[in-house]
Amino acid sequence: MMPRTVLSRCARLAKNVPLECARSTKHSVHRGMSSSVTIPPPACMLRPLEAPFRYLFGPGPSNVPPRVLAAGGRPIIGHMHSEMFEIMNDIKKGIQYAFQTSNNMTLVMSGSGHTAMECAVFNIVEPGESVLVAINGIWGERVAEIAERMGAKVHTLVKSPGGYFTNAEIEQALAKHKPVLFFLTHGESSVGLAHPMDGIGETCHKHNCLLLVDSVASLGAAPLLMDQQNIDILYTGSQKALNAPPGTAPISFNERACHKMFNRKTKPVSYLLDMTYLSNYWGNDGKPDRIYHHTGPVSGFFALRESLAILAETGLENSWRHHREVAEYLWKGLEDLGLKLFIKDRDLRLPSVTTIAIPEGYNWKEMLAYILKHHQIEFTGGLGPSVGMVIRIGLMGYNCNKANAAKVLAALEDALKQCRKTNA
Ligand code: PMP
Repeated sequence: MMPRTVLSRCARLAKNVPLECARSTKHSVHRGMSSSVTIPPPACMLRPLEAPFRYLFGPGPSNVPPRVLAAGGRPIIGHMHSEMFEIMNDIKKGIQYAFQTSNNMTLVMSGSGHTAMECAVFNIVEPGESVLVAINGIWGERVAEIAERMGAKVHTLVKSPGGYFTNAEIEQALAKHKPVLFFLTHGESSVGLAHPMDGIGETCHKHNCLLLVDSVASLGAAPLLMDQQNIDILYTGSQKALNAPPGTAPISFNERACHKMFNRKTKPVSYLLDMTYLSNYWGNDGKPDRIYHHTGPVSGFFALRESLAILAETGLENSWRHHREVAEYLWKGLEDLGLKLFIKDRDLRLPSVTTIAIPEGYNWKEMLAYILKHHQIEFTGGLGPSVGMVIRIGLMGYNCNKANAAKVLAALEDALKQCRKTNA
C-alpha cells in the first residue's frame, strides 16, 4: 500500500494511469506518458525513396507527363483559400468540357474511381430501392456489390466477358425490375470493350430510371457526350487518358439526378461522400459560403487541372481521333504477330485498352514478367471474370503514340520468342 499523500499526488499527476506509470511520469517529457520508445525507426525509412522508371502500358495508371508532374509538385496552398476555389472552378469547367455537359453539379471526388462509384450509388439510391446493373466484365460486379452493401435490391443483366447489351435487352430488364438507377460501363477495361451508348439514356428515361455511366477507362479516348447521350451521372478517373496521378475522380450529376439525390428520405450511408456537403465544398449549391467538410488533395487537384488543360488544348475530337489511329496501328501490328484480338468487332474495341487473347501454349504470367524485366514495360493480365483470358495493353493520353505502340509490339515479339511454349 502507498501512503495516502503519495497516492493522491499520483492521482493528480496521472488520472487513470496505473500507479507504476504514474510514478515514472516524474521523469517524462510529457506527463502521463513514458518517454522511452520501444519501436526503433524502421531501417527502410532511413533509406531514400526508390521508384524505378516503367513504361506503364497496362490499363492504368499511365505515365504522367512532366508538365502534370510539375503542376502536382508546386507548393501547396490551403484547401479553403480563395485561389484554391478558383482552381476548383477551373477544374469544374475542364470537366464540363471533357464530359460535354453543362451540369452545374460537376465536381471531383477526393479519391480514386471507386470513390466516384460509391458516391453515385450512395447518393442516388436509398435502401430497398431497385437497381439494375449491367455486368460484362468486372466493373458491373463491383457496382452490384456496392449497391448490395448499402441495402439496394440489386438486379443484374449479365453477359460473358466482352459481350454487350442491346437496347432491347436493356429495355426489357428496365420494364421488369423498375429500377431507380441503371449502371453501365462505357469503357470496360477488364475486357477492352467500348459499349455503344446511343439510345440508352432515352430508354432509361422512358422507364423513369437514371443512367449511371463509368468512363474511367474511356474518357478522352473514345467518344462520349454526357448531355447529348442523356447520361444522368457520369464519372471518370484521373490516371488513365487524363494522365494525372491516381487519386482524384471527376463526376457530374444532371438536374434529374440532383432532384433524386436531394429529395431523399434517408441520409446517404457515407458522411464523406454525402453530396449535400460535397456540393457546398465545390461551390455548386448556390450558398455564399463554403464550409469545411474534408481536406481535399490539393496537389492532386493541381495535377488534375493541368491534365484537363492539356485535353482542352488538344481538343476532345483530336484526342478521340488520335487514340483511334494509334489503336488501329497497334491492332494491325498485333495481328501481324499472329496474336488474336479479344474483341472481334473493331467498332466495339476500346481504343485506350486493347485486349489480346492469351497466345496459345504460353503462360501469360511468365510473358508479362519477362516483358517487365527485359523491356521495363508493364502490361497486365485479365481482371475479375477475364483473368486467364486476356493480356491488356493500354496506350492512353501521353503514352498514346506510334513509337510506344512499336515498343509494345517489339516487346511482345521478343517474349513470344523467348518465353517457353508449354504445350508445343
Ligand atoms: N472503372 C473502370 C472502367 C476502371 O478501369 C477502373 C480502374 N481500373 C475503375 C473503375 C476503378 O478506378 P480506381 O482504380 O481508380 O478506383
